[in-house]
Amino acid sequence: MKNFAILGGGISGITVGNILLDMFPDSKVTIYAQETRDIVSYVASAQFYPIWLGDNLPENYELTLKRWFLKSKEEFIKRRDDVNYGIATYRNHELFKEAEEPPAYFRDVLSNFEALEDHNLPAGYKYRFSFDTMIIDTWVYIPQLTKDFLNRGGQIVQREFKSIAEVIDLDEPVIFNCLGMGAKPIFGDEYLKPVKGVVLRLKPVNIGDVVVSTGDFIVAQRSQDLYLGASYDENWETADPTQQEEEYLFDNVKEIMETPGSIFSIPQGTLRKENIIERMVGFRPVRSIGPRVEKETLGDKTIIHNYGHGGNGIILSWGTAHEALSLL
Ligand SMILES: Cc1cc2nc3c(=O)[nH]c(=O)nc-3n(C[C@H](O)[C@H](O)[C@H](O)COP(=O)(O)OP(=O)(O)OC[C@H]3O[C@@H](n4cnc5c(N)ncnc54)[C@H](O)[C@@H]3O)c2cc1C
Repeated sequence: MKNFAILGGGISGITVGNILLDMFPDSKVTIYAQETRDIVSYVASAQFYPIWLGDNLPENYELTLKRWFLKSKEEFIKRRDDVNYGIATYRNHELFKEAEEPPAYFRDVLSNFEALEDHNLPAGYKYRFSFDTMIIDTWVYIPQLTKDFLNRGGQIVQREFKSIAEVIDLDEPVIFNCLGMGAKPIFGDEYLKPVKGVVLRLKPVNIGDVVVSTGDFIVAQRSQDLYLGASYDENWETADPTQQEEEYLFDNVKEIMETPGSIFSIPQGTLRKENIIERMVGFRPVRSIGPRVEKETLGDKTIIHNYGHGGNGIILSWGTAHEALSLL
C-alpha cells in the first residue's frame, strides 16, 4: 500500500489530499496540521481573478500561471452546480484610475473579459476590467473538500512540526509540503514573506450579481456574510487589524459602492458599520519568485513542495496541486 504524508491542512494540503486519493484510492494519506480552521485559507475572498504574485517572477511565467489557473477553473466549474461546494458566479468589475493593459493570458483565463473606459465610475476610477468570476466561499468549500477527503479514507492528525528533522522522521516515504507561511521556518525559504490583509465580514446584504474590486478593495457576497477586503500590507507593524485599517477599508468600499450612477451602485446607507459581524486578518504567503512546486530528496524521503501561493492560493489550488502530483 502506498503511504503519503501531507504537511498542512489549508487549501493546498486538502486539495493535494483529494487528488492523491483519486489517483491511489487504496493508499494511506495523512494530513499533519497544527490548525485546520484558524488559518489564512479561511480569510481569502477567493474571487477567481489572478492578482499580484511576486516581484521577481521568472521570465515567461505567464504560461505557467495560465496552465495552473485554467486547471483550477476546470475543477471549480465541475463542482459549481453542487451547492455543497459554495461556488457562485458573478460579474466582476475591477476598477482602475489609470488605463491598464491586461496580461495576455487574462483573456484566456477569464470568461467574457472586457477592458473598458467608463465615465460613470466613482471615487476617481476611470477604467475597468469586467469578466465573469466565481466566488469560492471558503467557509463552505474547504469543509466540503475536507469531508470528501475524510469520506475517501484520508486522515487528519493534529501536529505541529518544529524542525525539518521532525519532518524527515515521519514514517511516510513521500511527503507533500503544503505549509504555506509555515514553510519559511521549517524549510528556511528566504523568498517567503507574510503580506497582511484585513477583512470585515458584514451581515449578508444583496448587492446584485456583482463583485467589485480594485487593487486595494473587494466587496463580494457570500452565503453567510458580505465580505469586505482587503489591504495588501507588506510592511505591517501589528498583526491585529487596526482601527485605521478598518476605517480605510470600510469608508472606501462604501464610497465606491454607494456613489450613485455606476453599473453596480447600491442605495446609500446599505453598508453600515453596525452590521460588521467580524474583523479578520490573514497573512498571504507571498513568494517573490512565485509558488514553489518542486521535488527534493532529503535523506531517504521525497519531499514535494507546494506552497507560497501569495494572494492566489485558492484559485491556484487545483492547478498547483495537479502539478505537484505530476512530480511523483
Ligand atoms: C485578505 C486575504 C485575501 C485573499 N484573497 C484571495 C483570493 O481572492 N483568491 C485566492 O486565491 N487567494 C486569496 N488569498 C490567499 C490565500 O488565502 C492563500 O494563498 C492560501 O490560503 C494559502 O493556502 P495554504 O494551504 O498554502 O496555506 P494555509 O491556509 O496557511 O495552510 C497552511 C497549513 O499548514 C499548517 N502549518 C503551518 N506551519 C505548521 C507547522 N510548523 N507544523 C504543522 N502545521 C503547520 C497550518 O496549520 C495550516 O494547516 C487571500 C489571502 C488574504 C489574507
